[in-house]
Amino acid sequence: MNNQQITVIGAGTMGNGIAHVFLQAGYKVHLVDTNELQLNKAIDTIAKNMDRQIVKAVLTIAEKETFLKNISTYSSIQDGVKNAFLVIEAATENAEIKLKIFEQIDAHAPIGAILASNTSSISITKIAAVTKRPEKVIGMHFMNPVPVMKLVEIINGYATDLNVTETIVALTNQLNKVPCVVNDYPGFIANKILMPMINEAIYSLYEGIAGVTSIDTIMKLGMAHPMGPLQLADFIGLDVCLSVLQTLQQGFGNNKYAPCPLLANMVAAGKIGIKSGEGFYVYTPGNKDLVVSKRFAI
Ligand code: NAD
Repeated sequence: MNNQQITVIGAGTMGNGIAHVFLQAGYKVHLVDTNELQLNKAIDTIAKNMDRQIVKAVLTIAEKETFLKNISTYSSIQDGVKNAFLVIEAATENAEIKLKIFEQIDAHAPIGAILASNTSSISITKIAAVTKRPEKVIGMHFMNPVPVMKLVEIINGYATDLNVTETIVALTNQLNKVPCVVNDYPGFIANKILMPMINEAIYSLYEGIAGVTSIDTIMKLGMAHPMGPLQLADFIGLDVCLSVLQTLQQGFGNNKYAPCPLLANMVAAGKIGIKSGEGFYVYTPGNKDLVVSKRFAI
């Protein structure tokens, strides 16, 4: 049992997963969200995901009970971060929201605490600059779903201290995940390489070179990708893909990242993938088959 306490800010998709893996590594976790419903939902999700691990014999019932006793929820950052040695922010991907959150964390977390962000695209250097401890601010970019995915992209901001990077690398190994350290430039590495591929897949559809099924099957079977790029885009959320591409385009000042007009149209129409029920595919509860949206059926 590890008695150290970490705090996760934001109890959404990523926040509950991050809390889960730290509980499983024996940490005490404080989970903070401004939305009470999200906090309750997160605890339910963690319990359900642990049940799945019990079925797979990864966890015992006794371990689950112990782990769930080690998580407490808070609606205020001030109370939630008080004794943390590490705070990981996984709140909504919005620079204004994140900068405000970091000002508050910095004001209330212990002086020695490391402050990490799970942002997919916002500059760690910019986030660090609103704190009085930029050398202790770092990116910890977990992948979705957190309990399953092995990678953590560790992002060094301009001012991040080498000791802080070393501590976070060691901690990531302790979570039984694989840390990869990169520098702070738009999209870091994961999205700088993934998003142009997704954009190119959408362009290929837009230009009529191939249909949804062909594009995804070629990339799945030909490149041994577990999911085709269009299915992956639906999974990530087309709104997120659009926003990351715009960040890359602006950040590098390079139009090679310009989002495909079809992507922009789909987001404007609210067809943003799994979370809206339709993107390149349609998603009906209870149906696991991949059904191409009528808009693209050929
Ligand atoms: P989400 O919308 O599921 O959850 C965000 C949560 O933040 C919500 O519960 C919201 O109530 C909470 N929140 C908003 N403002 C807050 C505040 N001021 N204080 C406390 N909580 C606040 O989002 P998500 O998909 O979990 O993404 C969270 C972060 O993780 C984002 O930065 C995103 O870019 C990053 N990320 C997401 C994925 C993914 O696949 N979803 C993958 C990697 C990284």
